[in-house]
Amino acid sequence: MDMHTVTDELSDLEGRLQKVLSVARDLSVFTDRNELLRKITQTNSEVLGFGATSIAILDGDGRFRVKAMTSLRGDLTMDDFNDYSMPFEELERLLRVAKPIGDIYWVDGSEPILAEMEERGSVIATTPTVESSHWHPRSLLIAPLYRPPAEVFGVVFPDDPLDGMVPTLERAMLIATLAHFASLAIQLHENRSYAEAQLRILTAQRERLSELFRASNDVQRAGQLEEILQMTADAVTSAGGFRRSAIYLRSDDNLELRVTSGIDTRERARLHENGPIELGQFAEIMQPQMRLSRSYLFDHRKYPLPDQLGQQLSVPTRSPDELDVGNWEPQDSLTIPIIESGQLLGVISADEPIDGRFPDLEQVQALEFFADQAGIAVSQMMQYDLLRELAETDPLTGLMNRRSFWSLAERLVVNARGGGFQMAAMFIDLDHFKAVNDQFGHSAGDLVIKEAAANIQNRLRTQDVVARFGGEEFVVFLTGVDQIQALSLAESLRLVLASVSVPDVDSHITASIGVAVAAPVVRRFSPRGLVEELLRLADSALYDAKARGRNRVQLGGVLDS
Ligand code: GH3
Ligand code: MG
Ligand code: MG
Repeated sequence: MDMHTVTDELSDLEGRLQKVLSVARDLSVFTDRNELLRKITQTNSEVLGFGATSIAILDGDGRFRVKAMTSLRGDLTMDDFNDYSMPFEELERLLRVAKPIGDIYWVDGSEPILAEMEERGSVIATTPTVESSHWHPRSLLIAPLYRPPAEVFGVVFPDDPLDGMVPTLERAMLIATLAHFASLAIQLHENRSYAEAQLRILTAQRERLSELFRASNDVQRAGQLEEILQMTADAVTSAGGFRRSAIYLRSDDNLELRVTSGIDTRERARLHENGPIELGQFAEIMQPQMRLSRSYLFDHRKYPLPDQLGQQLSVPTRSPDELDVGNWEPQDSLTIPIIESGQLLGVISADEPIDGRFPDLEQVQALEFFADQAGIAVSQMMQYDLLRELAETDPLTGLMNRRSFWSLAERLVVNARGGGFQMAAMFIDLDHFKAVNDQFGHSAGDLVIKEAAANIQNRLRTQDVVARFGGEEFVVFLTGVDQIQALSLAESLRLVLASVSVPDVDSHITASIGVAVAAPVVRRFSPRGLVEELLRLADSALYDAKARGRNRVQLGGVLDS
């Protein structure tokens, strides 16, 4: 295996991520579905390094058929897939024997089920470009395409990895990201054809719907979430027939105000001052009996006004008798949920219909189409943020920072549990570092930290995770090592750190290391909880190591089943 360092891997990851994201943004503009599907397979092959990639979609008869493919060697063509089809149940059988890597699945080519399926024509073996003991010609990667809430409607099959390896977790996440964008683009394509058909009927009745739809295409092209949300809110007021709108996004159990339209600065400031609104409060104006399509129309004459929320949401800008003749009053509200993959991501709150009347079904559905676009954008950004976090590094040492560490470590826990691997964490802290700074200056101190980081990293395997947690404090997270291996690695790190030398720093550097290990079967913690507990134990072991004289390795708690 080549000596890629974690840093190289991460900047390589970052580069590929940027390419995937730039393609992802373009995916939504394809008008031809076959071209869209081809672009997906081409990107997977060229950017993520696979000799061949195909995409199969579930047809009405319950069988997956290949609709597009890319072969970098050119030895496979669409004709090779003419007779290929795979019943849905075969995919389920495959997934039962598959090993998850992040959000995709890997089936080792030596699994007997694959030989059987090859005979039935559900699997096509390909000759790998690179001969490798890690990748069998029948090995299979499966990146499912989901439709909300959790229905698989297609599959991307990346095949023939050009490095001859089963993808790492990071690379698997890139494949999953591309698949995620692909499924959004395919669904958007379906919805758009649907919306276009709807539109032809509706434009005749309501000119403003066409305005809505034009704005929705812009929503897809804009890059930034804030911008997209603002456009959505503005579209609700400029084309949706309401004077005022606000968009709240969910963060845990709260809804936070993100953008408004048609609301003056003073009131906006007041809304922001109110702070986040609990989901439970919104639930009061999102009751089943208030439903219109999948939105909620709150008519204050039918239901009691929830006092807290009523105050928080809006203050009437005009008195009821100033409103145009109609039956909408300031206490009424329309709430359009922003839902993606079955999850509530936020709400659009629309107020004061221009015509003063309660909106009808068509008008609400048009607004919902908007909410859908916003939902896709929000979930794309969430995925993007997750990956950007993974690629984030500490500028001095090039190591992962604390934030990146958490997301990666949690994923490693999930994988380790799946694979039945033990886990270990280490806290490493340089000894008497204040003295180094005091004696040789802060920038000399920086050089020592940098050198220490490089030495730690060189001792680790590619799949190990090391992060700079604080000034001269590092955390290492390992999977697939037992207590003895973890302790011996810690000891070798202690030795290598004791030999760190930096020009102009005439001082003997040492480090103390606290170690904690966990069995794979510790089930009483969530992934996050397990990482927290391991770090807590390693940290208290570090404290012991310091108390016992420094320059030593100390084993702390062991988490058993
Ligand atoms: P101990 O053996 O107990 O760990 O002693 P220590 O002096 O290393 O104490 P501690 O770990 O609590 O303090 C770390 C010191 O490292 C504090 C600060 O002066 C220094 N430090 C923190 N961040 C940086 C940094 O980025 N660069 C440099 N040069 N020094 C840093
Ligand atoms: Mg220290
Ligand atoms: Mg410290």
